[in-house]
Amino acid sequence: MASKTYRKKTLYETLTDAINYYIDRGWDSEKSLLSWSNKLRIAANRENDNLDVTRNHLKAVYRRLVIDGGALRDQPVDGPNRITLNNIKPDLRRELDKRIFMAADLIKLNRETAINKTVQRFQGWVSSVPPGGTSAVDRNAQKQAIKSSLMEQSFINRRVAIDQGHKLASAVTHILSIQGGAIAFQWHSNWRRPGYNFRVDHKDRDDLIYLIRGSWALEKGLIKPVYGYYDEITAAGEEVFCSCKALPIYAPQKLPLEFLTEKGRLEFVN
Ligand SMILES: [Zn+2]
Repeated sequence: MASKTYRKKTLYETLTDAINYYIDRGWDSEKSLLSWSNKLRIAANRENDNLDVTRNHLKAVYRRLVIDGGALRDQPVDGPNRITLNNIKPDLRRELDKRIFMAADLIKLNRETAINKTVQRFQGWVSSVPPGGTSAVDRNAQKQAIKSSLMEQSFINRRVAIDQGHKLASAVTHILSIQGGAIAFQWHSNWRRPGYNFRVDHKDRDDLIYLIRGSWALEKGLIKPVYGYYDEITAAGEEVFCSCKALPIYAPQKLPLEFLTEKGRLEFVN
C-alpha cells in the first residue's frame, strides 16, 4: 500500500534508478545525464548524518575530561585541582565549540569532494554503457563502485572526529596546565605505537622538555631553557592527525639539572 506521506528517495534508491535507466537505454542525451547527476547530488547532500556523530564524539570527550574531571587524572599530584578545573570551564567550553565548528567545516568540505567524485564515477560509467543499454552489467557491483567514494567519506569523517577529539583533549590539558602554574611541557610521541604514521621531527622531540614562557619559575630566574620554549614549536596535536602529548611539569625540582640556573641550584639542590 502506498504511503500517504511523500518520502524523498535515498541516495541508494536514486543511484539504483539512475543505473537502471542507463542499463535499459544506454546513453541518450546530455540533458538526461545532467538531470541524473543533479538528482544524485541532491540525494547525496541530504544524507549528512556524520556531523551529529562527530558532535557527539566531541561532547563525549568534553564530558569525560571536564565534567567528570578526567583531565585531572593526567596531571601530576602537584598540578591543578578540581577548583582550577571548575574556574576555567568557560574557556574549555569555548574550545569545545571551536572544535565542533572546525569539524563541521571539514566535514562539509569532505562531503563536497566526495559528492563530486561520486557524480564523476557515475558519469564515467554512463559513458561506458553502449548505446541501447546493456544486460551484461552487474547492477549491484556498479552501484557499490559508484557509492564507494561516499563510503570513503565516512571513513575520512571518522578520522576528522578522532583528530578533532584529540585536539580538544590537547587544548584542555594545555589550558588546565597553564592555569595550574605549569613551568614546562615534556613532549611525548607515540612513535612506538604499531601502525602509527609518526612525524620524524615529532619523534625527535620525544622526551624533550620545553619551557613555558612567562612562568613563575622563569620570572624568578630559577630555570633556563635547554631545548627552547614550547611556543617555538607546533603544539601537541596541532598538526593533522598528530597524537603527540605535552606532559606538564610544575616544579623546578622535577626538571633535569641542566635546566636550573645558578640561583635555582642554590635553592633546589643540596
Ligand atoms: Zn605529533
